[in-house]
Amino acid sequence: MTIPYGRQSVSQEDIDAVVAVLKGDWLTQGPAVEAFERAVADYCQVEHAVAFNSGTATLHGAAEAGGVGPSSLLVTSPLTFMASANAGRYLGATVELVDIKRETLNMDLTAVPSEADAVVAVHYAGLPVDLADLPNRPSLIIEDAAHALGAFTPEGPVGNCAKSDACSFSFHPVKPITTAEGGIVTTNNADLAKRMRTFRTHGIEPKPDQGGWNYEIRREGFNYRLSDVHAALGISQLSKLDRFIERRNEIAERYRVELADLPIVLPPAAPKGTRHGYHLFAVQVQDRARVFSAMRDAGIWVQVHYVPIHHHPVSIDIKQTASDLPNCEAVYRGLISLPIFPELSDTDQTTVIETLKRLV
Ligand SMILES: *Cc1c(COP(=O)(O)O)cnc(C)c1O
Repeated sequence: MTIPYGRQSVSQEDIDAVVAVLKGDWLTQGPAVEAFERAVADYCQVEHAVAFNSGTATLHGAAEAGGVGPSSLLVTSPLTFMASANAGRYLGATVELVDIKRETLNMDLTAVPSEADAVVAVHYAGLPVDLADLPNRPSLIIEDAAHALGAFTPEGPVGNCAKSDACSFSFHPVKPITTAEGGIVTTNNADLAKRMRTFRTHGIEPKPDQGGWNYEIRREGFNYRLSDVHAALGISQLSKLDRFIERRNEIAERYRVELADLPIVLPPAAPKGTRHGYHLFAVQVQDRARVFSAMRDAGIWVQVHYVPIHHHPVSIDIKQTASDLPNCEAVYRGLISLPIFPELSDTDQTTVIETLKRLV
């Protein structure tokens, strides 16, 4: 039996919710999607939520609706999943990376250039990045909160868009809650929400005043719709989110105590008044390659989050290289994500702790 780094928690209740939709009239986007959007908006204390069929699609949709195009400069973190950068790349924008801070592993927002049109601010591992650090307000601020549903700051839940235009979530199985595949964008901007809804369904704008059949497509759109089957799972999962996050915090606290004396760097903790999402528990070790292989050999399926954006050949279109991003380089060298998910048993966590102690 291997211990994964992350894993969904699906209960009989979740399964029953999905089966109920399968037995009904609507399978594609319908009443369950609408109810899921309402439930996420309420949880996040925000006006609108627009569901998509992946987190990647939410970032694409938010950037497009926010006006990102070929003449735009979009800035993001080098220590993230490629989807954060692709939000700009898909739209022909120039993508720029600014370095991370070693104390938070989040991007250093003070370094965002004043020419930036858009920022995709990633809450790495579920630790909220403080948007107040932005020296100038770019015309579009998108939070990539794929790791951070259920996290909150003194200003309220991540997703309330207190200092952003839009906040994107992913429901991939390892994320805080799952719909198998799926994502949602929250926003307080009604126009932005409307544009995202059009974008996710081929760009179709109904024209009922010109006949019940009539519609018009004025800009390119996609089929980025979430299905009611997936949304039913999401609604059921959302009711357990707080319990999931509490359990993640409990696991993180035990790691902190039991790994405190090892020659490793522990992940940054949440400041007072902030609840960490703990999507990841990423430590920094010496001789990562050896530790990684030995953990895998011991049946512990550790991962590395992430191979930095600028390391991938596709990022030839991004100007910044390793020498521009020294903090990211230094952190990446030792980074390794230990197992953390709500159903990780105490016994399995002991195995992880004992194995790591032996190896470092
Ligand atoms: C998972 C993730 C995404 C994309 O989500 P998908 O639902 O897998 O498309 C985007 N950004 C970050 C930081 C992620 O971890």
